[in-house]
Amino acid sequence: MLKRSTACSLFFTCILTISSFAQEKVDLDMVNRIRYEGFHNSKVMEIASGLMDGIGQRLTGSPNMKRANEWTRDKLADFKLSNAHLEPWGPFGRGWSNEYINVRMVTPDVATLIAYAKAWTPGTSGEVRAQVVRANITGPQDFEKYKGKLEGKIVLNGEDPVVRPSTEPLSSRHDEKSLAGINQYQIPGERNDANAREFAGRARAQRALLKFFEDEKVVALIDHSRGAIGGGTVFVQQGGSYKAGQTSNLTQITLATEHWSRIARLLNQKQNVELALNVKNNLYDDAMTQWDTIAEIPGTDKKDEVVMLGAHLDSWHSGTGATDNGAGTVVMMEAIRILRALEIKPRRTIRIGLWSGEEQGLLGSQWYVMHHFGERPESKDPERKGDPTLLRRENGPVTVKPEQGKVSAYFNVDNGSGKIRGVHLQENARVWPIFEAWMKPFEDLGMNTLTMRNTGGTDHLSFDAVGIPGFQFIQDPLEYDTRTHHSNMDVYDRLQSEDLKQMAVIVATFVYNTAMRDEMLPRKPIEKELPPPPPQDGR
Ligand SMILES: [Zn+2]
Repeated sequence: MLKRSTACSLFFTCILTISSFAQEKVDLDMVNRIRYEGFHNSKVMEIASGLMDGIGQRLTGSPNMKRANEWTRDKLADFKLSNAHLEPWGPFGRGWSNEYINVRMVTPDVATLIAYAKAWTPGTSGEVRAQVVRANITGPQDFEKYKGKLEGKIVLNGEDPVVRPSTEPLSSRHDEKSLAGINQYQIPGERNDANAREFAGRARAQRALLKFFEDEKVVALIDHSRGAIGGGTVFVQQGGSYKAGQTSNLTQITLATEHWSRIARLLNQKQNVELALNVKNNLYDDAMTQWDTIAEIPGTDKKDEVVMLGAHLDSWHSGTGATDNGAGTVVMMEAIRILRALEIKPRRTIRIGLWSGEEQGLLGSQWYVMHHFGERPESKDPERKGDPTLLRRENGPVTVKPEQGKVSAYFNVDNGSGKIRGVHLQENARVWPIFEAWMKPFEDLGMNTLTMRNTGGTDHLSFDAVGIPGFQFIQDPLEYDTRTHHSNMDVYDRLQSEDLKQMAVIVATFVYNTAMRDEMLPRKPIEKELPPPPPQDGR
């Protein structure tokens, strides 16, 4: 519906679009100034190197996370933003970091292996050598077969990876066809309680599995990276819970697929394989409180009203969190730096939020929204107690605080380093003609698509859940899914400077326009509460 050729095939849409263009003012002088500052005086790669090279991984709860909070706060203060500070939130849980890992095959050959520790698992006490055994245990039905056979062993558990050469390019950009596809709304299916139950069931089975290996006193549990491409890229996340009192006692490691395969082939041939492991992981009990980084450009005649921009600052631990979500972080910092450098006097206050705990369930943004804007009641089910507001629809209606009515919009970037191609409108048709007008000066930068679709998985949902217009941009995928998302290769070199500059300029303009508009951005209704799910036998 958005692409202009098809827009006018619907008479009504055409009229709506044209009349709205006429009404929605676009300050092209400001667009010129923002483009000049963003393209000729950019600091985005300098900020990126400071964060990714200077600080590195930012797992929530790790000392690096706190360092990143402080560094971003100080940097925003250097940009002459007001009120740069850290806002505490909690309770989080335990902190974790990996200090050292070395995994070697010592029998039948000596070889150093590409390996990463899984987050929130313990290390070894110095180097341990043990025999490797193969298992394929998926749940309690398999426990009997392996009981009593795994003590003192290193266990390779799971199916063998299939390693294949990639026949598609690892990096891609949207073309007209893929953007036209995104533009088409997909009508959601019926509520699927069975899916939710299956998800909870899988999580319980996984906990039972880890407990089995712990009880069997295995030396370490090893899995392999996901994906068929391999090539030294290792995707690795957590091996246990970050929650206090639920830490796994099992050393867990993820191997590069090709290195797993070699061991697996030797074991299939009934050869004796021994590994030497040396893993030093640190657990921190002082991580219950975490922080979000906040800073502002104060408004003028409408200073009580706010426009927010943000991104999550936290990352996984094996790379340096460059595309997830260093990219979003540095784009937002650069966007607000541009606006400050131009000495704009916004009507509304512009506020940046850099969130922690996103990877554990939007925790930092969820906390911020809950304490400033609104929330739904918590679940009485202990397993679902920490759920964010967007997953609490069965618990009751949203209650809002007065500040909720003062936030015009929240803009988020969290889909990697690829440039902006449009906006997900989150089913808010009322902003369509406004964003259409704002997007027009960026056609030459490849931005031309709006979609009514919702997109999920990141912090705009925390705002959307309480009725604040929250938007995530459409971005080119580049290598996000194939190489960098939660992998050891999520590093500075995967950032594309021209894409980041494009994003910062567009975000700065959208934020500026939102801050200067006569009216706040129009809203859609808050989602109603859901009836509780039907009771189930044998849960
Ligand atoms: Zn992520």
